[in-house]
Order: sequence, then structure tokens, then C-alpha cells
Amino acid sequence: MTDPYAWIPQSLDTIHRAHWHRQVTAIAGLPGAVVTINGREVINFASNDYLGLAGDDSVIQAAIAATQTYGTGATGSRLITGHRDLHTQLEQAIADLKRTEAAIVFSSGYLANLGTISAIVGSRDLILADQYNHSSLKNGALLSGATVIAYQHADMADLRHHLQHHRHRHRRCLIVTDTVFSMDGDLCPLPEILDLADQFECMVLVDEAHGTGVLGHTGAGCVEHFGCRDRPLLQMGTLSKALGSLGGYVAGSADLIDFLRNRAATWIYTTGLSPADTAAAIAALRILHSDPHRRTHLWYNIAHLKQAIADLLPTPTHRATIPLCLLPSASPILCLEVDAAPTVLRLGQQLLEMGVFVSAVRPPTVPTSRLRITVMATHQTEQLNQLVTSLKTAIAPSHR
Ligand SMILES: *Cc1c(COP(=O)(O)O)cnc(C)c1O
Repeated sequence: MTDPYAWIPQSLDTIHRAHWHRQVTAIAGLPGAVVTINGREVINFASNDYLGLAGDDSVIQAAIAATQTYGTGATGSRLITGHRDLHTQLEQAIADLKRTEAAIVFSSGYLANLGTISAIVGSRDLILADQYNHSSLKNGALLSGATVIAYQHADMADLRHHLQHHRHRHRRCLIVTDTVFSMDGDLCPLPEILDLADQFECMVLVDEAHGTGVLGHTGAGCVEHFGCRDRPLLQMGTLSKALGSLGGYVAGSADLIDFLRNRAATWIYTTGLSPADTAAAIAALRILHSDPHRRTHLWYNIAHLKQAIADLLPTPTHRATIPLCLLPSASPILCLEVDAAPTVLRLGQQLLEMGVFVSAVRPPTVPTSRLRITVMATHQTEQLNQLVTSLKTAIAPSHR
């Protein structure tokens, strides 16, 4: 007799040996530019709370007030007992920001992608997906049963090539892409993608998880940034990053949203967003509108840090350092590529000891190991400088 569960410790062992093992780190107190880890205050460069709204007092107060008025849970799915006026208000606020006819809110961004993709395409259809797309887009594509082809990252010649060879064999075609790539920080070439979609009769679904609140004149995202708001497409995103709450959304035509309310299983068969999360997102969207200065400051911080890191990186004359490479970025996500998983782990640990928290991201999440640094609007210039000083120390020859 063999133990049917014996494979679990064996698999864990393999994960450890590949330096792929991951575990949680507890953050104490409120989220923000400075957080407490293991009883110690560290500067936080690992959060997706780009505008610092998750710990903002007016957002917190909105969540408390909604809990007092509506209770803690939605108590049911949206189509049964779980629908509240607050949900309508939030969906209207998202549609206003995105300038679409309508929007629908899911319990998370992950569920929004699973439910939307599997509702709009099926086994007779084709999905063309950027190879670096988020896990939720990849799994949504698998769940749909469509034929899935990954194209080379942001490579429009490769996308065109696949369209020319495969498009005609399928009923519908959907192109899916992150707008801001979450583990790289670069942007998808949206205008070119939309042109190809026009030419080959494809739908386009963009994931604005890291674009919403960050990019575009009003913070509407990458679609606004590229001036593509009048073009037909499906925009999804999350309430959990720059908006500091929890939940996902899809914005688009009234027909699309009505269709999703009838066909997206991850919306129909799950409990509605909690009153606290809903109200927090509404409050965050208000701040997006009333305080554009936050976004301005975020971009000021991004420019400052990018320049400081570029100045620090090894040059051919400065050899005895760990090879680091700053990946191309047009967002608050700045990634320093490192040669190996053990090295990136050690750098992350050294930085933490120096009071700076960045995430060390490794395969299989990404193809190559990297330090992923995220900038917030609420970072002080001295805090950005401290990151640079600590990086300099960590990559100095004496630290090898
Ligand atoms: C975080 C993220 C999601 C999932 O959003 P959640 O609301 O956290 O479930 C989807 N897509 C991308 C690109 C993300 O970064």
C-alpha cells in the first residue's frame, strides 16, 4: 500500500530544491509607504496600493459607515438577496470613469477574468494572448475551452502572423492582454492591437489592473493614456490595487454588461461584494476625481526613482557587482532583473534587513528572477533615496 498523499511532501521538496518555495510575511498595522514587519518599521516598495488609498482615513470611514448601515456581508448572490444600491452606485462610478455605457462588479479581478472570458468565447473560438498575461487571463482562457495561442510579448508581428494563419478557422476571436504588465511594468501596444483587431474582426479584452487610477489624464487607465476610449473593446480591472479595496470589474457596452449578468458564472453563483469593500471603492473613485495631485505625485516619484536607479546600475567600468538590469517600464512597477533565484532572494533579504521591503519574484511566476519595486504616491523623496542607497550597499562587492 502506498500513501495516496505521499506526493505532497515530495512535491514540496522539489519546490524547495528549485528555490521556488514561497511563504507569507505578516504586515502589522495600516498599509502605507511605511509598514511594520516582525515588529520593525520598513519602507514599503512591495504593495500595489499606488495612491496610498488602502490606509486613507476617508476610505476607511466610508467602509465603516457602510458596514453600520448594510452589515458585514452581502448575504447572497447579486441576483437573489445580495444586491444593494451601493453596488449600482459603484458600477455607475466605474462606468463614469471609463466613459462606458455600463460596468459590472465581481468579487475579485481574478473572478472577473475567469467569468468574462468563459462567457464570451467557447470551443469554436480562438484566443490570442500575450505570453506574459496575468494568471487570471490564462486560466480564464483555459476555462473557456477556446483554442488558445500565446503570442510573443508585445510582439505585433507575431500576433499578426497567428491571426493570418488561424483566424479564419474560428468563429469568434478574442485578443487578451494586460495593459500594464504586472511583473514587468511595461505597457501593451494598445493602438496597434486595436488596429489588428479591426482588420481581423476580433474582440479585445484589456486587463487594467495596474493601469486604473495610475495612467491617463483622469486616471481611467491605459486606454485613456493611449487615446483609445472611443474604440470598441472590453475593459476589465480590479478595485484592489490603486483603489485600495477588493473586487474586480468589467466596463463596456450596456449589452455586454447585461450579457455578463446572464452568462458569467463567477458573477451569478457567488456572493455579492461586501458593503465595506463596495463603499471603500466608491470613496477611492471619488478621491481619484477630487485629488488628481496624488497621481501627479506618483509620477513625480516614479521619474525620480527611475533616474536614481539608472544612475546606480553597474557600468562596464564598475565590474565587481551583481549584474542587475532595469527592465523597460512605463508604470509604477520597476523591475531589476537578477541572474538567479538564490541571488534575488538574498538581495530581498539584505534590503529588508536595511529597512527596505521589495518583493523578490522568481519563476514560475516570471521567466527570470527579479526585484519588483512598486512606487507609491505617498513615498517621501528621502524614502526613495534610502531604497537607492540600500540597493547600492546590497550589490556592492563586499556583500557577495
Ligand atoms: C492582481 C491582478 C488581477 C487579479 O485581481 P484581484 O482583484 O487581485 O483578484 C488580474 N489581473 C492582473 C494583471 C493583476 O495584476
